[in-house]
Amino acid sequence: MTKNALYPGTFDPVTNGHLDIIKRSKFLFEKITISVNANHLREFLFTPEERVDMIREVLASTPGIEVESFQGLLVDYARKKGISFIIRGLRALSDFEHEFQMNLINRKLNPRIEMIYLMTSQKYSYLSSSITKEISKLGGNVGELVPPLVEKKLKEKFSL
Ligand code: ADP
Repeated sequence: MTKNALYPGTFDPVTNGHLDIIKRSKFLFEKITISVNANHLREFLFTPEERVDMIREVLASTPGIEVESFQGLLVDYARKKGISFIIRGLRALSDFEHEFQMNLINRKLNPRIEMIYLMTSQKYSYLSSSITKEISKLGGNVGELVPPLVEKKLKEKFSL
């Protein structure tokens, strides 16, 4: 029985929705490696280093957490780490379609990987990093959507 799992994502930035998935994953696994996707998939607000640092700081007092960034294919990274469980969160049906496709492709690339899906908590079902950035950019209050540190970093980015 393995006790480790990866939780990959872009985390641009980490939100209370992500933290809820991490907290609940800790009931299933002893150690969670939060893996910030550092591939240049699109334009990001925060650099991979900034995204990793924010998660590290927010979860500093939570045991069994490792935070790092990765480049390249997720399945290759997971193989190198010797971890075969990958956690993902699911919100709306649109998440399902994307996740279903990724699951089938990842299994083709590495059949030993098992992906585990945690359904969003109702109060975070609307929450995404992009909606948070949009609200913050327009001067809205994101205090209930992200931890205080991330709220501060968002303000700094948008006041430049
Ligand atoms: P990606 O670009 O890899 O989807 P994200 O940072 O957007 O990265 O999300 C990482 C994972 O967390 C994904 O599985 C996503 O569905 C999940 N997630 C994001 N926000 C929420 C939320 N509010 N509730 C549950 N899961 C979430």
